[in-house]
Parts: sequence; structure tokens; C-alpha cells
Amino acid sequence: MSRILILERSVAERIAAGEVVERPASVVKELIENSLDAGARQIVIEIEGAGLRLIRVTDDGAGITADDVPLAFERFATSKISRIEDLETVQSFGFRGEALPSIAATSRVTMVTRDAGASAATRARLTGGAIEDIQPHGAPPGTMVEVRELFFTTPARLKFMKSPAREQALVAEVVQKAALAHPDVTFRLTFDGREAAYWPKAAPVDRAAEALAAGRPVELIPVSGAVPGGTMRGWLARPERARPTRTGQHVFVCGRPVQSALVRRAVEQGYAQLLPVGRFPGFAMFLELRPSSIDINVHPRKLEVRFRDESNLFGAITRHVRTALLGSPLIRHAAAQHDARSAIDQSAAVQAGDAPQSAVGLSLEIREGVATYGSMVVNHRLPVLRPIGQLLGTYIAAEGPGSVYLIDQHAAHERVLYERLIAAYRRGGVTSQTLAVPIPVDLSPAHAVLLAGHRDQLEQLGFQVEPFGLRTALLRAVPATIPGASLDHLLHRALAALAGDGDEPGNDPLERLAIATACHTAIRAGDALEPRAITALLNDLAATEDPFTCFHGRPTMIAVSREQLERWFLRS
Ligand code: ADP
Ligand code: MG
Repeated sequence: MSRILILERSVAERIAAGEVVERPASVVKELIENSLDAGARQIVIEIEGAGLRLIRVTDDGAGITADDVPLAFERFATSKISRIEDLETVQSFGFRGEALPSIAATSRVTMVTRDAGASAATRARLTGGAIEDIQPHGAPPGTMVEVRELFFTTPARLKFMKSPAREQALVAEVVQKAALAHPDVTFRLTFDGREAAYWPKAAPVDRAAEALAAGRPVELIPVSGAVPGGTMRGWLARPERARPTRTGQHVFVCGRPVQSALVRRAVEQGYAQLLPVGRFPGFAMFLELRPSSIDINVHPRKLEVRFRDESNLFGAITRHVRTALLGSPLIRHAAAQHDARSAIDQSAAVQAGDAPQSAVGLSLEIREGVATYGSMVVNHRLPVLRPIGQLLGTYIAAEGPGSVYLIDQHAAHERVLYERLIAAYRRGGVTSQTLAVPIPVDLSPAHAVLLAGHRDQLEQLGFQVEPFGLRTALLRAVPATIPGASLDHLLHRALAALAGDGDEPGNDPLERLAIATACHTAIRAGDALEPRAITALLNDLAATEDPFTCFHGRPTMIAVSREQLERWFLRS
């Protein structure tokens, strides 16, 4: 072993710098946060060579006085806290006084800064952290920080860089998140002299719509409410705008962008059953929590956050999201063309395999708000529908105020049966219907074991099954809500659902059992329906909590508005 040595200060600083300055995007993040802390209204971010050649951030914030400029580059030099107690109440992004010295240690930095009261600006130039010169300079109030040749002092870092395109994308993401959290600030981002994005000062919902890339602002569903330790507010993308990836999910705690698997999962849980498997909802969620209920300082880059009361926070977020989603009209509309999703979103979607949903040139789109349905909307939910008849043996045609509705009879009936089962279960028991003749069902050894282990849950949902010999069970009763066809298949499916190896979504075995039961027994595509059965189904559907989606996340109905019909027939 070699002797233990204490590292030379400059070496130690470069190592520590790596904690803060991992890649160009982390430099951009620190510089933007400094600009925001300085009260900037306009921030321009210029990037060249994916940030390795040049990062320049210019703001119109408070600036730094000439005397303080050298201090800004000292480690642990900050204007934002002075006492340890301040940590409890700190509102600014920075407070460690580490960013500028770390950035300077790994690059060539030029800073030009002028505080509003000063007659001239100050320019400081540093190489590898050492100040080369500080001079008065002509410049408007505000601060410009230029970072050239990032990592020239620590070339080993360069090996960890991803492709230029990827590093640029990470920078864009940082700016995007800052723009989302600060709609009252104008941001401009250029790559190699070309404008990549421009966010003029905007209403919060407009910024959110842009960041979620999930349609127009009116399509977003606002959500807000109390959570343990504070409040939450945000916007949710409509379920049909969900994507195959989690891009478009943004979490902020006290204005800081954070990664939080907890918040992400809580929101996704709120969308349960509204999304097909493998689809992720877009959302922007802002949590304002008292400092005592979070620990934001667990990571040098302050990305991770820890919550004190995790399980109650999770539950509260899920509930608010659920309420917001179920309280909004989630009817899907047919439209002749896509609305103006941004070009970036379109190409990103196509790359991700998220081709626009379309069949025979139709795509799904949401009408603006509820206004179209006027006073006919009951609780923002399903309008009163007049049944017309069955189409193609599979769909129900109905007329509502100003629109024609096509309803998928299987999906609709699934929704009805599922909610009935769950409601009966919650009320304390699903009524069973005893079979006149018990049905023997052959079981695989695996299913026999499952049956033995899950008889309680089966009974809670109205099934009565008894083991009968080693490989056979006797089905004596089934839930009263269900029609009595192919009950042996139903039992097999129910057992697979309990085991979690069927295709039912959900984590809870009982819920999967309810889904399997509803799905198996619902009217199928191709089943002929009497007018009376159609009316009954529409009434039952209207009484459900979520009439618009089956639990696989498919729509139960699609509306075609009068305006749409007029467009198709070229009447308007
Ligand atoms: P921290 O942000 O944690 O205080 P930094 O190293 O990022 O530490 O910045 C050091 C100090 O330099 C800040 O506390 C602030 O006083 C000053 N400063 C940095 N950037 C700016 C800026 N864009 N505008 C005004 N002051 C700045
Ligand atoms: Mg800072």
C-alpha cells in the first residue's frame, strides 16, 4: 500500500467539483438557478458543441457588486444563508456556495456582472478555478456567465459524456423544467447559434401544456388539494394522451425539479384502469411542503427528495388525482385531423412508436371543455343518451346533445359489471347465486393450490368453490350479478387472475378477480342486443363512476360532434 496523503487543495476541489458538475446539463442547471435566485425575468442560455465548447447564461437579475465578484468563486461563499438555522427556511435554489467554484475549477469561466446600483459592470476571467483578471467592463445590469472548455482540467470526465445529441437533450430538459416551474420568466435556448426553444412569459397552464406535450392547455385537467405537510397542485394529461415512456412527467418540490418515484407512482396509481398497460400519463405536479416534512439535501445535486410521511402523502396524491380525473369529462371525440401538437412532439411520438391512434383516417381528439354539451352534462359526466340501435353487432349507436355516440358494448358492460362487483364488495358482500347443479371443474395442480389459498377472496366476490378430490373443484355459487355461461372457464380465469398471471391490470388480487369476472361475463362483440337490453346497458353505464373507460384503459365510447359530421360531409 502507498502512504496516505492529504490531497493538494486544487486536486481535492476538482474531485469535489465532479459532484456538482457532472455534465453540461448540470452546469446549465446551476447557472439558471443562480439567475432565478437573482430575480431574473429573462434568461438566455447559449450552448455550443453540446456544452463542452461553450455554455453562456445571461440574465437580467440583481447582479453582483464589484467587491463580491472574487468571493462568488470561493468555496462555501454564498449570499443566501449565513447561519446554520437558515437551512430550515432557505427559499433560494443555491445555498451551498459550491456551484461557481466547481464550475470554474473544471473550465475557463468569464463572468460579466453588474448590480443595478453600479455605474459599470465587472468582468472576471478564471482558468481552472484561478482568477486571471478582474476589471471594470461595460455591460447592462445583470449577469453573464460564460463557461468554455468544460472539463479541460479533468479530461477523464469527457469519457463519460454521451453523444452530443443526448447531452443537448439533457440541457433542453433542464431548461424545460425551469421554464415549467417559472412561467413568469422568459427563457431562450440556442444550440450552436440556432434557437432551439423560446418560452416567453406565459400563464402556468400554457407552460404546462407545452411541457407535457399532451395537447392544448384546455385539455389539461387541473388538480389540487392538501397533502401531509402542505399542498399540491398541478395538471394531468388526459388518459388517451398517455405515452409509452415517462417523458412528460414533471415533479417539483418547493419549486425544485426532483426525481421522485413515490410521487410518480402515486399519480400513476390515480390513473389506475384509465390507461392501457405500458402507457404512462403526462403530468406536472408541484408540491409545496413545509421544510420540516422534507429532506431535500440528500443528494449533492439536490435531485432526490425524501418525505417524512410517505404513505399518507402517496394516498393523498392518488386520491386527488383520481378525483380530478373522474370529475372531468373523459369522453373521446372523433376528429378528422390531429390538433396542432408541436412538431417536436409529433416526431418524438413517432420515434417512440407512439403513432397517432387512427383507423380509416380518423383519430381521437378531445373537444374543448364541456361547453359543447351545455346543461345536459350530469356532473360533468355522461350526457343523457337516446339509444338508436346496434351497429355491426358490436357497437351501440346513441344520440346525445349535439353529438352522436358509438359505444363498445363489451367495454361498456365490463365497466358496469366491474363497478357493481366492487360496490357490492365494499358494501360488505357480493350476493351469491347458488347453482342448481354444482359444476365440477378440473384443476391443474397449480390452480388447486391457488384455490386452497384464495378461497376467502373468491367468497368475498360471491364464488363458492369446494375442493373435490385432488384435481377437481365443485363450483357451487357465483356472483349474482353475472350471467351463468361457461362457468368452468370463469373459474380458471379467476384463479389465473388471483395468481396475477392473467392479463388483468392491477396490483390487488381482489381487483384482478373482479376484472376477470367482469371481463369474462360481459356481453361480447357479436352478441345481438334487444332494444331493452341496449337501454338497460346505457342506463347502467350512466350510473358508473367512470363511464368513459374500461379497466384495460380502452374507451367505452367515442363521440362524434355535429361540427365534426359537418366537416366530414363538407357542409361547413
Ligand atoms: P450558491 O448559489 O449556493 O449561493 P454559487 O456558487 O452558485 O452558490 O454562487 C455564489 C454566489 O454568487 C451566490 O450566492 C450569489 O450571491 C452570487 N451569484 C452567482 N450567480 C449569480 C447571478 N447570476 N446573479 C447574481 N448573483 C449571482
Ligand atoms: Mg448557485
